[in-house]
Amino acid sequence: DGDSYGVLPRPCHALVLLNPQSGSGRALDDFQAVVQPMLAEADIATTVFVTERPHHAHEKVRDEDLSQWDTLVVVSGDGLLFEVVNGLMERPDWREAMKKPLCILPGGSGNALAASINYYAGYDHVAKKKLLTNCTFILCKGLYTQMDLVSLSTASGKRFFSFLGFGWGFISDVDIDSEKYRWLGSARFTLGTLQCLAKLRVYQGRLSYLPMAAEQGSSPCPRDAPAPVTNGHIPQPAGTEAPGSPPPDPLLVPLGQPVPPHWTVVPEEEFVLVYAIYQSHLGTNLLMAPAARLHDGCIHLFYMKAGISRVTLLKLFLAMSRGTHLDLNCPHLSYVPVRAFRLEPRVAAGIMTVDGEALACEPVQGQVHARLCRVLSG
Ligand code: ADP
Ligand code: MG
Repeated sequence: DGDSYGVLPRPCHALVLLNPQSGSGRALDDFQAVVQPMLAEADIATTVFVTERPHHAHEKVRDEDLSQWDTLVVVSGDGLLFEVVNGLMERPDWREAMKKPLCILPGGSGNALAASINYYAGYDHVAKKKLLTNCTFILCKGLYTQMDLVSLSTASGKRFFSFLGFGWGFISDVDIDSEKYRWLGSARFTLGTLQCLAKLRVYQGRLSYLPMAAEQGSSPCPRDAPAPVTNGHIPQPAGTEAPGSPPPDPLLVPLGQPVPPHWTVVPEEEFVLVYAIYQSHLGTNLLMAPAARLHDGCIHLFYMKAGISRVTLLKLFLAMSRGTHLDLNCPHLSYVPVRAFRLEPRVAAGIMTVDGEALACEPVQGQVHARLCRVLSG
């Protein structure tokens, strides 16, 4: 449709949010050496806001007069963009604010969205300075499109808007345990993977989901109850939402209640990992969901059941660098495209992550909100 794509005006003015501590600490140097000269050529003027602490960018975009900027550019890892997205969603004018095209320029150690956009654009698989150059080129071209976000809610009442993925277990442990090796850049994940393999753990909990197919008008395969005529949607009484309040989650019921009958409940309750990803890449060298696209309306849900051997797990991770892990037909690894999911850990064990940021372990559920924001994408 006509809203799907757009182009930045010229000349244009970008607010650049830069985390000087991201990655191995070279974001500011790289920005000045690599990015600035290219943007100058493309008639893109910049105002650089250097973050001084966590949450600084969140507050900045939440309170900012956005009319002066044509785009918000994040120079960091995925964590800073997560702050920006959630800062924007806290605004009473979020609906308007989310039309501001966002851009990610990789400066962090976890640059999953940048790697995904590089992949969707059809560029060769690259990392580091080459990935930064490709992403800067995408900004120079100025073409943007819509991106899905996933609304995540926790039992303790937290709510997040996530653009990359939610994880529990193995991969999330690697992500957080390896923070201490930040100076290694993206190599921190390789080292972290080997360390976590050595102390492989099992996580107990219940995983449920609403399959994509059930939402596309076909039979929702009810187990005991007939399919609701609402096709999975809990009808929202019209006019009960205060103007400016964040969007409701019509596919979800409160965490205290059982999931709707047309959801699927995974029979196994022992996992090595659960990962709900909505972009292709989980890291520059992890092509986890090769079929994912920016606005496919889909959560790509992966889960790995307990009982997998270390050797098989290692083989899967090596295959994931090329995106061929599903070709191995490992019986312990499942993949299902979904619109919504729920994870209820039996005990508060293991690390949960949202877009690479740590979260206290507790019941979580989420649903996709198609095309909620815009992103520079080539
Ligand atoms: P990386 O990929 O290296 O982890 P991120 O963009 O994910 O980079 O940022 C990591 C964390 O750093 C985020 O949680 C963010 O809130 C925090 N942060 C942002 N600015 C600063 C700063 N000036 N000093 C320390 N931490 C910061
Ligand atoms: Mg990070």
